[in-house]
Amino acid sequence: MLDISATKKILNDFNILPRQSLGQNFLISKSIVQRIIEISDLSKQSHVLEIGPGLGALTSVLLEHVAKVSAYEIDHQMIEVLEQRLSDKFNLALYHQNILQVDLHALYAEERNFQVVANLPYYISAEITEKLLTEVPNALSMTLMLQKEAVERISLEPNNSRYGPTAILIQLYGRITEKIKVASSCFYPQPGVSSQIIKITRDPESVLFSNLNNTNLFEFKQFLKQCFAQRRKTIRNNFKNSLRPKLSAQALSEIERLNIIDFESRPEQITAKKFWQLYQSVANYNDKV
Ligand code: SAM
Repeated sequence: MLDISATKKILNDFNILPRQSLGQNFLISKSIVQRIIEISDLSKQSHVLEIGPGLGALTSVLLEHVAKVSAYEIDHQMIEVLEQRLSDKFNLALYHQNILQVDLHALYAEERNFQVVANLPYYISAEITEKLLTEVPNALSMTLMLQKEAVERISLEPNNSRYGPTAILIQLYGRITEKIKVASSCFYPQPGVSSQIIKITRDPESVLFSNLNNTNLFEFKQFLKQCFAQRRKTIRNNFKNSLRPKLSAQALSEIERLNIIDFESRPEQITAKKFWQLYQSVANYNDKV
């Protein structure tokens, strides 16, 4: 486990200055790493996806608990450190890649004992969370460190002005089953924002998981973004201005007659389940033309 002095020593030995632009705030708290491991419910069969292993504070402990860790890191200096520090770990697959450019679905959607554990780079945490939920909803759980404000936003129910696509995707995947506050002093360098760990656990009836192979979840994610393109406008207007491919007037009235939602409502008033039904009727229509 890396405490503050071990972390500073590695940074010094490798001549590394933590890069704020990559969200490099390294965990230096043994008790927080332990909490992450405890709540993640890992087993000796688990295959864990870690995003942003950094200097390996979490990675080295994960490796002791699971069958395999696949870790993706964008920064070559971190890769250099990890290759030296963890060179004897046969169960680590380390990739020097930008996670946003990895086709996670192609690589991991068939995995059974798959779990995600990550202290995320905050500057792209929403994009990563949405990517995980739509590409690998087969994951049994996702334990993520996020900025406190991001956790608040993605925990929202409808009828809140900040409710949006990530919250909807989480509700169609499962439930947030753990929330733990983390003090800034648990990181080096200390972030200027507050942090929280959440665990999202897949529901037995998870809509995203049960549609993993027969529906394009990436398109569903795009559909949600189009519905929220102008969040103060009605769904009718968002459909008119942002939906791609565009719906004809006839298609719109046919879908409207299904009575799934009131087209005069704003996107923030619509539940996750209704968005899913609406998407299916739009996708069905697009398939027909
Ligand atoms: N896991 C380490 C820990 O807990 O101490 C480091 C976590 S740090 C908050 C985020 C890590 O994500 C950094 O190592 C950073 O270089 C990496 N990172 C940033 N953007 C990335 C991206 N697009 N793809 C992969 N890794 C990225």
